[in-house]
Formats: sequence, structure tokens, C-alpha cells
Amino acid sequence: MGTTVQSLRAEALPHQPLIVSTWPFGKAGNEKALETLNNKDSLLDAVEQGIRVVEADETNRSVGISGLPNAAGVVQQDACIMNGPDHNAGSVAAIEGILHPITAARRVMENTPHVMLVGDGARQFAIKEGLESMKVDSQKLHQEWHQKQNKPAPTERPKDNHDTVALLVLDTKGDIAGGCSTSGWGGKLPGRVGDSPIIGSGLYVDNEVGAAGATGLGENVMRYCASFMVVEYMRQGLHPEEACLKTIARISAIDPKSAEDLHLNFVALDKKGRFGAAGSGSGFQYSVTTPDSSKVLEGAAFTKKDVGPEGGNTK
Ligand code: ASP
Repeated sequence: MGTTVQSLRAEALPHQPLIVSTWPFGKAGNEKALETLNNKDSLLDAVEQGIRVVEADETNRSVGISGLPNAAGVVQQDACIMNGPDHNAGSVAAIEGILHPITAARRVMENTPHVMLVGDGARQFAIKEGLESMKVDSQKLHQEWHQKQNKPAPTERPKDNHDTVALLVLDTKGDIAGGCSTSGWGGKLPGRVGDSPIIGSGLYVDNEVGAAGATGLGENVMRYCASFMVVEYMRQGLHPEEACLKTIARISAIDPKSAEDLHLNFVALDKKGRFGAAGSGSGFQYSVTTPDSSKVLEGAAFTKKDVGPEGGNTK
């Protein structure tokens, strides 16, 4: 872990806004979230508006309608949102042709008695709610997909064809909320749902403790309820970075895949205003924004020697 991260740990003070998100592309979302809070809009508005910025970026090939299509050439998106103060959540999965899945997820949370809508039901709900939609021209997308990839690869995990924006916000009152959005694994089987819209897997918020979000290979996140696990480690008193590392260590101790092949990356913040991130391999970058600074940082990289006798990390 770099000294920059160490020193920045101390920068974040409790009850000053803190926004943490996955990847460098989260930074623009963080800044929008901070602006939203500064305009006195709500915590949930900050999460939603921040993620909408990333979803709207046409150059982003893993989040939003410009994300990579599935094996049938259709972009199916996953998103969720969770509010700490009332522990409410909403999510959409395998939704097609909706420009802002994060808004659809929020509407599920606020305007239905449900937590999760999937597939065409989710799309029809979003359209009824008046959300921006587009006709899905799967034929055209399919051709583009074949041209770019040469072959659809639903059963192997091709490199660098997925990422998620998970964005966590701590406001000045010490309340926490978060959300995530992704087009998931490029070339996935139609109907595949990843970790991102599953509460406790791709995202978890506990207003008493903190929040965590995931990016990486969803299949390796959702089998372990990994974001929930990160939050539970923070509940035990671990620093967010240690909680992320300990979660990777625990999964790595069970899973026969090499840590590199697990493709696990987590961001986390706690109620005290501390934050951190870790990846099962090196090179996981995340974005951190406060009123004083907005930066892209390197997450801690897990190594096998971090695994203790009980599968936890030894630090
Ligand atoms: N976790 C996402 C999924 O499996 C993709 C990613 O974040 O890289 O759909």
C-alpha cells in the first residue's frame, strides 16, 4: 500500500462529505455527487447523479448503454442503490435499452414495494416511470460485437471486458448511501446477472458502520456476499482497506483460483470518514473526493502471504 493512501487516510474527517468510487472513471461521478450535496440535494440524489455521469459517458465500454453487449449482441445492464438511513434498496438486472439504470433502481426502491426487478419487467417499469429509453437494435449491436471481438466468448473470461462504477457517499450528517451500475461481462450469456445489482454482493450499506462496493468478476463476488463481508469486517473495527484485504484473503483461502484470476476489487468507507480499497491483483485504481481534493489512488494489492491460519489477513 502506498504512502499516498496512508496519508490520505487521515485527510478524510468525519462528517465532511466523502465520496469513494471504483476506477478512474468514477472521479467525474464523485465530483458530480459532491456538487449535488453542495446544492443541498439529498444523499440519494448525490449517488444517483454521480452514477448518471458515468452511465452517460459514451466512451465508457463497461457502464451505460455504450457498454459491451452480451453474446446475443444486446447490452443488458445491472444497477442498484442503497440508502443507509432507512436501510432501503432498489435494483434492476438484465435491463435493456434504458439510459440510466441507476435511476430505474432508485424508482424501484421508492415507487414499488419491491427491491429488485429484472429483464423486460424492469424495462417496462422504467418506461412507465418516464425514464429515457432507446429501441434495442440487437441485430446492429450483434454485428458490431462480432466485428470487434471476432467471436462471442460467454464461457471464458476475456481480459478487460468488464468494469463497474460503485460509488459510495458519506454526507456531513454522517449518513451513508451507495449505488452501482454496469453492463457486466462482455459476451456473457443472455440473462446473466452479475454481482452489481445484488444487495450484499456488489454493494452494501450499513448506516451504523460503513459501505462497500465491488468490481471484478461478479461470479467470484456473489458466491461470497463479498460487500456485506467487507462491511462486517469494518463492524469488527477494521480499517476499510484492511476489511477489503481480509475479504479477499478469506475468499482466496477457499477458492482454488489464483488470487490474480479471482479478479476481486473492493472500495469501502466507514462512518468515521476513513476509506480504502484493495484488489486481488495489482493495479486496481479508485477515486476519492472530498471538498479539499479529488484524486485517483492505487488500491492495496493482496498477496498470498496476507492469508492467516483462519483464512483472514494477518495484518
Ligand atoms: N462485477 C461486474 C460483473 O460481473 C463487472 C465488473 O465490475 O468488472 O458484471
